[in-house]
Amino acid sequence: MSRLPVSSSKRVLTSSSSSSENGQDFAPAQKKLRKDPEPVRPRAAATIIGSKRPAVAASRALVLILSCFLHALSFVVSSGVLKQSIASTAAKGGNIKQPVAPAGAKAGGGGANKRHAWDLKGKVSDMEGKIRNYQTKYKSINQENEELKGTMIQSQTRVNQMEKELEMQRSQISEYEDELHALAGVRNELEKVSSEKNTLQKELSNLEGKYKVMETLRDSQETELQTLKMKLSVQESTLARLQGTLRDTEEEVRSLKETVSQQKDDLHAGEMERRRLHNTIQELKGNIRVFCRVRPLVDGGLSKHIQLPASDDKTITLAKTEESHTGKTADTHKNYNFSFDRVFGPTASQQEVFEEISLLVQSALDGYNVCCFAYGQTGSGKTYTMEGDEFDRTRGVIPRAVTQIFRAAEKLGAQGWEFNFTASFVEIYNETLRDLLYTGKASKRPEHEIRKLSNSEVTISNLTYEKVSNEDQVLGLIALANQNRSTAQTAQNDRSSRSHSVFQLDIEGVNAGRDVKCKSTLCLVDLAGSERMLKSQSQGERFKEMTAINGSLSNLGIVISALANKESYVPYRNSKLTYLLQGCLGGNSKTLMFVNIAPEPDSFGETLNSLRFASKVNDCVIGTASANRK
Ligand code: ADP
Ligand code: MG
Repeated sequence: MSRLPVSSSKRVLTSSSSSSENGQDFAPAQKKLRKDPEPVRPRAAATIIGSKRPAVAASRALVLILSCFLHALSFVVSSGVLKQSIASTAAKGGNIKQPVAPAGAKAGGGGANKRHAWDLKGKVSDMEGKIRNYQTKYKSINQENEELKGTMIQSQTRVNQMEKELEMQRSQISEYEDELHALAGVRNELEKVSSEKNTLQKELSNLEGKYKVMETLRDSQETELQTLKMKLSVQESTLARLQGTLRDTEEEVRSLKETVSQQKDDLHAGEMERRRLHNTIQELKGNIRVFCRVRPLVDGGLSKHIQLPASDDKTITLAKTEESHTGKTADTHKNYNFSFDRVFGPTASQQEVFEEISLLVQSALDGYNVCCFAYGQTGSGKTYTMEGDEFDRTRGVIPRAVTQIFRAAEKLGAQGWEFNFTASFVEIYNETLRDLLYTGKASKRPEHEIRKLSNSEVTISNLTYEKVSNEDQVLGLIALANQNRSTAQTAQNDRSSRSHSVFQLDIEGVNAGRDVKCKSTLCLVDLAGSERMLKSQSQGERFKEMTAINGSLSNLGIVISALANKESYVPYRNSKLTYLLQGCLGGNSKTLMFVNIAPEPDSFGETLNSLRFASKVNDCVIGTASANRK
C-alpha cells in the first residue's frame, strides 16, 4: 500500500526527465508534481482520469494541448527564444540527447537548427515528426497509464482486501485482546489456584506425614487389639470358668455362713457355758480365798523361823524357839502351822502370783465383782504385790489385771461384745476419802461421800471416774495416784502405810446381737499396814490413825467372816472401806486376800498376827466351801 505513491512518483519523475528533453516548457508541470505534499495525489489524478473521463476526451485534450504547443513554438521560433535555450543547454555541455530527427529532416541537412527560416515545411515536418514522437510517447504513456490503472485497480482491490483483512485482523486482534484479557483473568485465577495448590500440597504432604504416623499407630493398635482380643477370649473363658466356680463358691459360702452362724451360736453358748463352769470352779475354790506371800529377805533367802514345805504350796509354819531362862531345861520349840489356798515363797515371781489371780480377773470380765486385798505389816510387800515396779517382769497385780482385761475384751469383741472401762483411785485415811486422781488445786480439793444408789450400787461423790481403753492410760493413772500420795506424806509420817488405797475398774459389756449385758467391778486394794503400835507410842495423831486402821482392818475381817458364814447381818457400815466395797463383797463376788509376810525375825510377832487374821478369814471360807459341797 505504501509502495504505491513511491512507484507513482518514480514514474512521474521518469516522465518529467523525458519531458526535460524538450526544454523548460515542462518545468512548471514537474515543479507542480514535486511540490505536491500528498503522496496519494498521483493516484487520485489517475483515478479521476480513469473513472471520470473517457479516453476520447483525453486524446482531444491532448490535441488541444498540441495545437497550443505549436502556436507557442511558432512564437518561440519567431522570437529566437528557442535558439537561446538550446544554446545555453549546449554551452552547459549537458547530456541531453538530441531529438531523433525524422528521416526527412536528416535528409534536409541534419537538424532543426540548420533549417532555414523559410523552410516552414521542413519545420512542420520536424514538428510532425516530433508530434509523432510525442504521440508514440503518448501512446506508450497511455499504455503505461492503462497498465498503471490495472495495477491501480489490482492494488485497490488488494488494498480493499487488505483493509478487509486488516479489519478482520483488527477484529481478531480485539478478539485476541479480549481473549488475552480473559486469559489474564484466567492467569490470575491460575496463580491463585496454583498458590492454593501449593498450600494444599503442603497441607497434603503434612497430612500424608500424619497419615503415615496414624497408619503406624493404627498398625500397632491393631496388633494390640489382636492381643487384647486374644486376651479377652482367654479371659472370657476364664470368666466363664470362674463364674461357675463363683456359683459353687457362693453356694459353699452360703452353707459356710450357715455353719458360721451355727458355730457363733455354739460359740456364744460355749462362752456362756465356760462362764458358768468357770464360776462354778471359782465357787468350788471358794468365793473368798486367802493367799499368803512371803517376801524375801533384803539379801535374799529366808529366815529359819519361816518354813515352807517343798512338797506343799498351801502351808506355812512359823517356828519359834524359846531359850531356857535358867539354862537347865531344854529350849522349847513352838510351831504355828497355817494353811491357805496358796502360799507363795520368797522366790515366787510376780507372774506366778498373777496366774492364780488371773482366774478371778476372768470372772470380773464375765460379770462378777472381784475384790483383791493386800494385807500385812508395813514393808511386807503389799504395794509390791499390787502395783509392783515399772519393769515388765516386776509389774504387779493391777497392771497385769488391766492388761488381761483389755486383751480379753478385744477377743470378745469378735463375738459381738463391746466394753467400756472406767477407772477410779481413792485413798481412805483416818476414815476420810481422798481422790488420788485429783488434778485441781490442793486448796479446792472437794470432800467425798459414799452413796448407795437405788440399784444398790455404790458411788463416791466428786470422785474422778476416768474412762480408759488401754493399759498405758491405767499406768498413767497409777503414776498420778502415787504422785498424789507422796505429796500428802512427810518424812515423819509415811501416810501411804497408814491408809488404804483402792483402785476400782468398772467394766460394762454389751453384746447387742444377743441382747446380753454384763456389769462388774474389779477392786484392787492396798491396805494400810497392819502392825500394832505400842500403846506408849500411840499418842495424838498416831493414836487416831492406829484406831482408824485397826478398826477398819478388823471390820474387814468381820465382814468377810459374816459373808462367808452367810450371816444375815454384814456390818459394812462400820468402816468406810467395807462400806465402799460392799457391792464387791458378798453374793457372787469373788474375794481374794493376800497376806503379805515380812521374813525378818523381828517381824515374828506381826507375822503371827497377820497369819492369824488371815487364817480366821480362811477358816470361814473353808467352812463355806464345805457347806457348798453338801
Ligand atoms: P508395803 O507396801 O507392804 O509397805 P512394799 O511393797 O513397799 O511393802 O515392800 C517393801 C520393800 O520390799 C520394797 O522395797 C519392795 O520392793 C520389796 N519387796 C516386797 N516384796 C518383794 C518380793 N516379793 N520380792 C522382792 N522384793 C520385794
Ligand atoms: Mg505399801
